Parts: sequence; structure tokens; C-alpha cells
Amino acid sequence: MLAIKGGCLCDRDCYEITGRLFNADHCHCSMCRRQHGAGFTTYVEFNPEGW
Ligand SMILES: [Zn+2]
Repeated sequence: MLAIKGGCLCDRDCYEITGRLFNADHCHCSMCRRQHGAGFTTYVEFNPEGW
């Protein structure tokens, strides 16, 4: 199964997602654009128990 790995820049907190992703969306609001320095932010939900 494909795993998505990520974490914070200092590597203190890391994660790996192997379950199904759903409800993916882009947000173009001013707070998301400012926080990520991009034209939009992508969000996705997942079940922390994996399935
Ligand atoms: Zn937003």
C-alpha cells in the first residue's frame, strides 16, 4: 500500500498515512495564502485508524 510521509521542518513530529484519503479540497482564503506563501492550500481528511 502506498504511504504518504511527512512532518514538521525540525523532524520532531512525523507522520505516515496509509489509509484512504477523502474530502480533498483547496482553500484560497487570505489566511491560507499567507500561511503557506502560495495561491491556495490543499486539505485532505483521513481516518487515523487506517482502513
Ligand atoms: Zn483558508
